Amino acid sequence: MGRPHVIAVPYPAQGHVIPLLELAQCLADNGIKVTFVNTDFNHTRILNSLPRTRGINELIILASVPDGLEPWEDRNDLGKLEVSLPKAVPRALEALIEKINATESDKVTCLITDYGLIWALALAEKLGIKKSAFLPAPVALLALANHAKSLLDEGIVDSDGTPMKVEHVTHLSPEMPPMKIQETVWLQMGDFASQQRVFQSMARGTQAEAPPDWIVCNTSHELEAGALKLLPNLVPLGPLLPSTRLGHSAGFFWPEDSASMSWLDQQPANSTIYVAFGSFTMLDEKQFQELALGLEHSRRPFLWVVRQDMAQDYPKGFRERVRNQGKMVGWAPQQKVLSHPSLACFLSHCGWNSTVEGVCGGVPFLCWPYFADQFLNQSYIAEYWRVGLSLDKDEFGIVTSGEIVKKVEILLSDESYKARVMSLGSKTVSSVTQEGGSSHKNLNSFVDWIKEK
Ligand code: UDP
Repeated sequence: MGRPHVIAVPYPAQGHVIPLLELAQCLADNGIKVTFVNTDFNHTRILNSLPRTRGINELIILASVPDGLEPWEDRNDLGKLEVSLPKAVPRALEALIEKINATESDKVTCLITDYGLIWALALAEKLGIKKSAFLPAPVALLALANHAKSLLDEGIVDSDGTPMKVEHVTHLSPEMPPMKIQETVWLQMGDFASQQRVFQSMARGTQAEAPPDWIVCNTSHELEAGALKLLPNLVPLGPLLPSTRLGHSAGFFWPEDSASMSWLDQQPANSTIYVAFGSFTMLDEKQFQELALGLEHSRRPFLWVVRQDMAQDYPKGFRERVRNQGKMVGWAPQQKVLSHPSLACFLSHCGWNSTVEGVCGGVPFLCWPYFADQFLNQSYIAEYWRVGLSLDKDEFGIVTSGEIVKKVEILLSDESYKARVMSLGSKTVSSVTQEGGSSHKNLNSFVDWIKEK
């Protein structure tokens, strides 16, 4: 009899790959073999970005399957992926598992898929192996999804999810932030077709053909007690961070700029603004330039992640003027950056991973949400945990340089933000690092379940 062998399949987006690969590393640290299955497209990017000097756990094998899109199609088009993935993935995954079982002594015993690919668990049912789903988003998002049908039934939104009562605020629990109807996930998807698709799928509810035995998630009781009470079948294992197991994060789509850390080493303690918008956000040129000027006018050091696909022209003379003040990098080792002593605040798009990482790093936030659940995460940060401030847009929909300078000053002149985020961060980290912490216990139980014969 070989080792337990998990097949882990992330949704093909950066913010889904990183935390599931982190979970895979935790499983491998416990002697479990993991075949980690990206799409072919992402697999190539990850291999090209992996630092040559840094491997991942030897019990993790990186493999890939097609995503069903043509080579030239846009991998950020979520509507297209929703159609192509269910057609392409199950067949290729079955062939991969057959090959592993025919050639390896460690036969496949368990399938863990992203919650967004829950349909793939039908294959696990067919093969008679264990099945689990992984939720990399906040549990509050699922709680809201469960509430979508009531909003329709009560006439608060129509059948496309468009608000009929624009002032409505949903408050699902006293231990959760209030959610303004305009900020619900389906109204922040970028276009009407995506709004309809997301709302209607939430209102229908998830009826998995093969329900998972476990749904594990990258959160903790310290962060989301209220939402976890509403969904007691979800098992929080987070925060899934390499710092909690003294490892490195992996699975980057872009190569990290190694100069980020040495540049931070030269900055005074508690001085620097870290600016990063995750893997998806785009800013138009006007907005990009206002941000650049806001950072310059803050007169503080800044480390700004400008992904190559989001770069625009900088304001005239900007690079020269900020030569000694700021650094722009294509991709930073964010989880390390957020625990650097030079950081003063994190100007963030509030993706769930960035949110958890910033909290655990003890860094107060300036919130600039862009898409989907990031508005909900902003409500956690600014209204419920009170560990940051929101940046407001002007009447033209722009976050001005003046707004950035003003909010940096307010945030950094009030020490209570730092105190609250340090306290929440240390409790959250303890949950997974301390014997007896709730996420620690849950992770051990999950490992035991995977190992059970
Ligand atoms: N990230 C990184 N370096 C960067 C920017 C982002 O390592 O320069 C990582 C970040 O630490 C997080 C992930 O990319 O783990 C982004 O996930 P998140 O949920 O915050 O945002 P998304 O990309 O899904 O919008």
